[in-house]
Amino acid sequence: MDTIWFKFLPRKVNVFLWRFRLDALPTRWNLSARGIELPTVVCPVCNNGVESKDHLFFTCEVASDLWRKVRLWLDCDMHTFLPWDSFISWLEGISLPTSSKNQVVAIIVTLLWAIWRYRNGLVFNNVFCNLSSLFDIIRLLSFRWIKNRGHLVSNWNS
Ligand SMILES: [Zn+2]
Repeated sequence: MDTIWFKFLPRKVNVFLWRFRLDALPTRWNLSARGIELPTVVCPVCNNGVESKDHLFFTCEVASDLWRKVRLWLDCDMHTFLPWDSFISWLEGISLPTSSKNQVVAIIVTLLWAIWRYRNGLVFNNVFCNLSSLFDIIRLLSFRWIKNRGHLVSNWNS
């Protein structure tokens, strides 16, 4: 599995993932750590906790709810609070065809991407989507990306 660049994901999403892996996304915590003065470093999604990468994408209430839904949907006891490379190692260790593993990657990356888009929608006052529809958007987008770019889906249910 190429863990650097996923052909079945759009370029902008691969760039996002690359920045996510390096913790180089401009979260409030990261901006503040670079010396940029901000009115607040509090998470814009929950207003409860410092907006670090780990908070925003894993422990924030919105993120943990989405992770729970995705775990239920995939019906697997996937670790969530893992560095990306450990997630890939975990995925490589389980017994699944490569096409299914690519689907899992697409879904997880879409989850992270959706959180980031949602967060940016809030920060820049241009709400990306209704929170309750975020999970539906994750399902739709990951399906579309895999179908259009990966040619991997014969039957999504399987
Ligand atoms: Zn939060």
